[in-house]
This record gives sequence, structure tokens and C-alpha cells, in this order.
Amino acid sequence: MPSTTEETLPQGPDYVRIRVLLYGSSKDDPVSDDRFGDHQRRVEIIFSLKLPRANMPPNDILQYATDFINLYYPCLKHTQKWHCEFCDLPARMSQQDVSSWCSRTPPHVLIYYHFVCDPRSGPCADNLRIIQRQMARVNGLPTPRRPRNREDPFEFPPMAACAGCEHEETVDMPTLKCSSCDLTRYCSVACQRAHWPEHKVFCKTPKVVKWVWPSAGELQEPREQVMPGSLQASEADDAADSPSQGCSIQ
Ligand SMILES: [Zn+2]
Ligand SMILES: [Zn+2]
Ligand SMILES: [Zn+2]
Repeated sequence: MPSTTEETLPQGPDYVRIRVLLYGSSKDDPVSDDRFGDHQRRVEIIFSLKLPRANMPPNDILQYATDFINLYYPCLKHTQKWHCEFCDLPARMSQQDVSSWCSRTPPHVLIYYHFVCDPRSGPCADNLRIIQRQMARVNGLPTPRRPRNREDPFEFPPMAACAGCEHEETVDMPTLKCSSCDLTRYCSVACQRAHWPEHKVFCKTPKVVKWVWPSAGELQEPREQVMPGSLQASEADDAADSPSQGCSIQ
């Protein structure tokens, strides 16, 4: 496969660029301010999504982009053994913040996901508000509203679970990562195969994936990867500091 970079992603008036940033932490990260900033654990994904028709109004473009991301959210959330961005609890919920520049040419959308233990109340929710305020200021946008829903985080599968079955017990199992997109993780090849009909469009949408996954106390160079379109899985050792590639299983 020819390698793709942001510059070589499909572009033009028919495409919207969606930049998605997933923020969280890893199991053994110390709970301290050191893990924030440029070194903060995250994955940055840039999608180039073909629009369904020409000359769409900006609001329709934004709706189309967010519908795509919301539809494939399970493929995004089960991408690591994510822990809360602020504490050491496993992440179960996320806060999504969307910024839109869809009236520009080319249109683009920025979506942050903060993976947290509980975005509703408590110290992690308060920390999240501080970050949201800062981000909104940087982007010249109003501060997003605090989530209104009152769901119990324990009604949601942890991010660390398999994207296919989402079973609680898969949290402690090694996972197989889809090596085609370098993102979505499964407890077994069977789960990956069963999930493929739901995963395939997400997997094959042109994108660039950059993991920022520093080892303890040290920033690694982010890996930039591009996705071919076949179904593969690679062994990933979640105890390791970086998402490993390992050997492929066909
Ligand atoms: Zn937390
Ligand atoms: Zn599974
Ligand atoms: Zn994939």
C-alpha cells in the first residue's frame, strides 16, 4: 500500500475532514499533572469522509460528519485499555466536544473525546470542565454544556472491553487489534469477524492514525500509520507502554 499522510488523503469539495482526538490514560500512569499537555496519552485520527451530495449547507455537512462518528463510536472507544483521563479508574464514559468549520473550504470538523470514569459529577467531572473551558477559549467557542444525562457509568461497558462482545471479563484479557485501521480491539478473532459488518465502513474510510503514547516519564515519537483495507488482527500487549503491532492473524 502507498503510505498516506494528511496531505495525501482524498480531498476536494466532496470531502469533509474530521479530526478526532481521544484522550485518556493508561493503567499505571501516576495521577499527576505531568500526564497532561503535549505528552498526554491520546490518539489523533484524521478522516476524509466523502459527502453524499454536492453543495451541502454547512449544517448538513456537520450533521453528516457527527452522525458518522457517533455511529462508529464503538470502534473508537474500544481502542485501548483506556483509563480515566484524570484518575486511575477504568474509563467507561466520554464527553464529546465538537467544533465545526463547515462553512470553510474545505469543510472540517474537530471532535474531542475525553474518556473518564464519570463526566457527571465529582473531581474528574470538575477537571473535565476546566479543560473544556480552556479548549473552548483556544478555539474561540462557547464552553460546552455539562452533560444532562444522569446515567450510571456502570451501565456502560468499559473502554477496555472488546469492541465486539463488550463483555466485562474481556477487560483483563489481551486484545487483538484490527491491523487494518490500527484502532479497534477485540477479545478474539471470532468477535472481530462477527463485528466486521459493523466495522467495515469505519475501517475502510480513508484516515491517518497517530498514537501519542509516551512511555513512563518519556515522550515517544508519535507513530503515524495508514490503513489498508483488509481484515487482519495483530496481537497487542496491553501491558506494554505502546500499542504493539505484533504478528498478524489472518
Ligand atoms: Zn476519573
Ligand atoms: Zn469479544
Ligand atoms: Zn479496522
